[in-house]
Amino acid sequence: MQLLIAAAGTALAFALLAAALTDVMDDLRRERDVDPLTGVFNRRGLQERVAGLFRSAGAPLSLILCDIDHFKSINDAHGHAAGDRVLTTFAGLLRESVRDADIVARIGGEEFAILLPALDVDAAMAVAESIRERLAMHRFPVLGATESVTATFGLAQRHSSERFEALSVRTDARLYRAKREGRDRVVATDTPLPAGSAEVALPAKATKPAV
Ligand code: GH3
Ligand code: MG
Ligand code: MG
Repeated sequence: MQLLIAAAGTALAFALLAAALTDVMDDLRRERDVDPLTGVFNRRGLQERVAGLFRSAGAPLSLILCDIDHFKSINDAHGHAAGDRVLTTFAGLLRESVRDADIVARIGGEEFAILLPALDVDAAMAVAESIRERLAMHRFPVLGATESVTATFGLAQRHSSERFEALSVRTDARLYRAKREGRDRVVATDTPLPAGSAEVALPAKATKPAV
């Protein structure tokens, strides 16, 4: 009987230890994969999920890259803490605007990626447009009653078997073009600017810090 009680006690101790270890592992994984400021995935968390999603070709999948417009002036005019508030609110708005299965990640200072499994370019366009409109309408208490914040979006649907890196490059080119065409818009095609059209000057692309 005593032996039985001792064995049960040992088994319980092992079970508790295993549960505690699992919790520690979960915490470590979260710390590694999640951006502490906004609570969405960081670049590493995104890469980790890409590995699973891109293993199989087939079902459509779209990528949105978006970048808050003139974010530096928001920091300059209202301070870094207000800028942080804009980032966390925008991240929350992104999460609210997509499905649970979609991946939202902060991949640079004020740049975010959204991976939309099973969505083609038209459906992803509707998602990006709705986010763009919601942000433009949103009023940030830290910025005052009249100031709005906008963001620019590039989006592309994955070609069958296309690697994430190639899809990213194509999507980023569209985001960059959307910036050049005036910001606060979504570009989902590779159509070049019409000849002679005015381009909005962009500063040289700075190297973004990894988040
Ligand atoms: P554009 O419309 O061309 O995107 O211009 P921009 O001002 O948004 O872009 P730019 O790259 O010139 O400036 C980005 C700024 O984002 C500069 C940097 O100080 C700021 N930033 C980066 N990370 C953070 C952060 O975590 N918090 C805050 N508050 N600011 C950040
Ligand atoms: Mg920006
Ligand atoms: Mg940027």
